[in-house]
Amino acid sequence: MKTADILRDKNIKPTPVRMKIFDYISEQRNHPTPDTIYKYLIHDIPTLSKTSVYNTMDLFRQHNLVQMITIEENETRFDADTSEHGHFKCLKCGEVYDFRIETSDINNSSSPAGQNLPGFKITERHVYYKGLCSGCSG
Ligand SMILES: [Zn+2]
Ligand SMILES: [Zn+2]
Repeated sequence: MKTADILRDKNIKPTPVRMKIFDYISEQRNHPTPDTIYKYLIHDIPTLSKTSVYNTMDLFRQHNLVQMITIEENETRFDADTSEHGHFKCLKCGEVYDFRIETSDINNSSSPAGQNLPGFKITERHVYYKGLCSGCSG
């Protein structure tokens, strides 16, 4: 599906800026901060402002095109992969890695959450790990 169609499908008007930002986040998959997006695209779009990056990411988030990850409270990153998965942040190189998590039994009564929160319905879970990646721990 073309970028313009993906955006139209979500009732988002596909402006050049929105399409460039969407292409960037879906191709790079590097969990960028708004600042990273801005610095990358300013070469392409000299008229780009940080505000328009923030506004665009907010719009994408509202339409579930990206999810927000906040491993650090002072640092917002965006992820074009909106499926549930865990994130590992390396404390040395700052890289954020994806990993798969078991999602099937989150509300099961025999799962840890089900045992500790009986009768609760969990709709969201964020799994963040920190440490040293394989490149930095050796
Ligand atoms: Zn590392
Ligand atoms: Zn991710």
